[in-house]
Amino acid sequence: MAEDKYRRFLQAGEVLFHEGDPGDCAFVIESGQLEVVRDVGAEHKVLALLGPGEMIGEMALLDRLPRSATATARQSTRLRPLTAEHLKDKLDGTDPLLRLLLKVVLQRYRVATESHGSAVDLTGSDRASVLERLRLEQELEEAFERREFSLYFQPIVDLETYRVAGFEALIRWNSRTQGLVLPGAFMPAVEGSQLIYDLGRWILEEGCAAIQRLNALPRPKGSKPLFMGLNLSGKQLESGRVADELREAIRASGVEPHTLKLEITESLLMTNLERAVGALQDCRDLGCQIAIDDFGTGYSSLSYLHRFPIDTLKVDRSFITPMLTDKSSRKILNAVGGLAHALGMNLVAEGVELPEHAAALAALDVEYAQGFVFSRAVNEQQAGALASADWPWTFARHHA
Ligand code: C2E
Ligand code: CA
Ligand code: CA
Repeated sequence: MAEDKYRRFLQAGEVLFHEGDPGDCAFVIESGQLEVVRDVGAEHKVLALLGPGEMIGEMALLDRLPRSATATARQSTRLRPLTAEHLKDKLDGTDPLLRLLLKVVLQRYRVATESHGSAVDLTGSDRASVLERLRLEQELEEAFERREFSLYFQPIVDLETYRVAGFEALIRWNSRTQGLVLPGAFMPAVEGSQLIYDLGRWILEEGCAAIQRLNALPRPKGSKPLFMGLNLSGKQLESGRVADELREAIRASGVEPHTLKLEITESLLMTNLERAVGALQDCRDLGCQIAIDDFGTGYSSLSYLHRFPIDTLKVDRSFITPMLTDKSSRKILNAVGGLAHALGMNLVAEGVELPEHAAALAALDVEYAQGFVFSRAVNEQQAGALASADWPWTFARHHA
């Protein structure tokens, strides 16, 4: 049998592999013919005759189990090998659910053909994590139907007046078994499933209705209307439906579009620039504001900043936390502020945890601050109380 890396040649009668041989590659038949045979008891059972264009040995490629039959050339035959390495990256890159399905189907097939069926190990790491993810996705869909999601609101504070200028809507899951669950524990599963479309639309509707109600409350004299930050996920942007859903939510709530501020992360913008720009431009045309979230953590190419009008940069917490001790993070903040202001944008500092952060940010002409020092995300009633108060934060009084 002649062979090189890309071809194998068999003479008539030559065996390609025996039943039970270790399996690590498949073959595409380029010319000739192969007979696939299995010995069942004393019987010599011909399973298939395969010719040009057909594939053989593919099962081993997927589960690396021993060959389940013997393949012999009927005439001189030319084959193109396909190694497991060829497939590995492709398989690893597919959805874990697809990988699991492939394994299950393969196992069923092997059981049906009584060859090594029981030897397939389905207890691998893939299975547990895929089934866990499926269970969570199902639970989340049920939770959505049972209305277990709610929006909480974290105040965004005007550093000139130390009063509430707006809120960011942050989703919470009020789970019957786990209590209040933070988005980090379930949003990845939501975003990996179809639920993101329904939940995303619901967030827009609820967020619009909430800011409309909050703006109807009595507020300190001279206050401007409150704004509402709404987080958009990548899938929502890609769906091409965001602007329509937003238009409908605006209509249903009667909200002033300018009070809505759509938050999109820098990394999301970078990975899908063209589509994102189109979708965001449509939202902007409706009159909504746009904020870049987690600014400074993406692989920023600042070129996008002038591709469409951005109103706000939300500077990531990683620049705020060290700012009291680390001179360079203050310099970066200063430079980002200069850039933002030159382009007509304002800044929100995220993750403000100390009164001294707030004072230092105000000194750097940063307009807004958001963080635990002011408040965590709270329910709508508490949010209303903060927005109505003359001095929601007594510690801040002497700074103002
Ligand atoms: P994000 O958009 O960057 O939201 C800010 C997160 O920072 C919130 O976490 C907030 O509670 C937290 N945070 C605020 N101030 C501080 C602080 O001073 N210190 C610290 N250590 N953390 C602070 P949360 O609510 O757990 O949300 C996490 C992420 O989940 C959000 O990050 C956002 O990416 C996503 N998310 C939340 N709500 C929604 C939503 O309605 N839709 C979508 N698509 N994503 C959402
Ligand atoms: Ca956000
Ligand atoms: Ca953020």
